[in-house]
Amino acid sequence: MINGQKIWTTMAQQANRIFLLVRTDKSVKKQNGISFLLVPMDSPGITVRPIDNIGGYSEFAEVFFDNVRVPRTAMVGEVNQGWTMAKALLGAERILLGSPKLAKFPLQRLEALARTFGLLDEPVFRARFVRLVMEVEDMVALYVRLLEVLRRGNALGEEVSVLKLAVTELFQQVTDLMLEAAGEYGGTDAVLPLADGSSLKPVNPYYLSRPATIYGGSSEVQRNILAKALLKLPG
Ligand SMILES: Cc1cc2nc3c(=O)[nH]c(=O)nc-3n(C[C@H](O)[C@H](O)[C@H](O)COP(=O)(O)OP(=O)(O)OC[C@H]3O[C@@H](n4cnc5c(N)ncnc54)[C@H](O)[C@@H]3O)c2cc1C
Repeated sequence: MINGQKIWTTMAQQANRIFLLVRTDKSVKKQNGISFLLVPMDSPGITVRPIDNIGGYSEFAEVFFDNVRVPRTAMVGEVNQGWTMAKALLGAERILLGSPKLAKFPLQRLEALARTFGLLDEPVFRARFVRLVMEVEDMVALYVRLLEVLRRGNALGEEVSVLKLAVTELFQQVTDLMLEAAGEYGGTDAVLPLADGSSLKPVNPYYLSRPATIYGGSSEVQRNILAKALLKLPG
């Protein structure tokens, strides 16, 4: 019988299944008493409450579980062994959420905006823009290296946290600069026509970038992982 509540589940309204890490043994060390379930969303007792994001879309939801019963076949792997699978899933999620595309695409949009406003010839803007380009390219190099690890069939180590941390923070720096570059239009609903024929509402990528340093494990948590696992600093 499952009872509890899960907030911030992306696309829960559209999903037909949800995976759950449920406590199945309270008497053992925390991580050893968790099981992994894959539960049909139409199970009796599940309620989904959509939540609007800052951009006005219902992209995630809060899900409630009241006396939900699931068949034994819903269990993935062995009982109380869910944490092992959860860790593997989190590693995969970090490489997904750390894709440099997240920062590279808005960077291209920023370049188009800067060309339109003639900012690329302005030395201070240019220096900030070039630094971002170089840092994004560093992350592309790291991404390719980590993908190669996966392609060879090996598991990713904790260094994948560098990618998630750096790419999501770069994403925010790019959209910060985009808002600044848009000047008086930055924080408004204005849709700007750009010189390349496209259009841009700078506040949209800005909003989109804000939660990136929270979902998939916050920046603080990624820094803790790196401090402990890679730098061997005390916990
Ligand atoms: C847009 C969005 C979509 C999401 N989608 C999903 C989803 O689909 N599925 C899902 O399961 N979850 C999802 N989440 C949840 C997300 O994974 C969590 O919000 C995130 O891991 C942070 O956890 P928390 O909200 O419990 O914050 P907390 O853990 O309560 O953290 C609060 C603050 O304390 C800091 N903090 C916490 N622990 C430490 C520590 N040990 N050391 C230093 N600082 C610490 C955090 O960095 C943060 O600033 C989503 C969240 C967002 C914002």
